[in-house]
Amino acid sequence: MKYIDDNSSRSSLFDELFDETCEIFLKKEMPKEQGLIRKFLNTAIVESVVERCFVCNGTGVIKTTSSIEDCVHCNKGMFVYDDQVRSHMMKISKKVFLKYKKQYNQIIEKINQIEISALSKIGDT
Ligand SMILES: [Zn+2]
Repeated sequence: MKYIDDNSSRSSLFDELFDETCEIFLKKEMPKEQGLIRKFLNTAIVESVVERCFVCNGTGVIKTTSSIEDCVHCNKGMFVYDDQVRSHMMKISKKVFLKYKKQYNQIIEKINQIEISALSKIGDT
């Protein structure tokens, strides 16, 4: 998803999706946690846009002065997002994340739909 891999288009994606993200949450309940909807949307966007592992810089290995070890955060340089990582990125507990995991997956779906429609637009020109 390289074409939105910069900050300005990332924030316009945020604006574009914020209303819909609120709607996704409202179908369940308004979260009591402050700023939760923004955190969920931001993290979902990062997960959709940033594929390369930022711990090992996409190399898949961590080099120290004495050894080379496989990076535990990624699969051959592609960052692995799991529930632990996601809740860590949002600075919320994993319990809170899991409560809204269904909503999170719906946000990811929305972003993927945009990606597909943007790609088909590119195909038209
Ligand atoms: Zn890595």
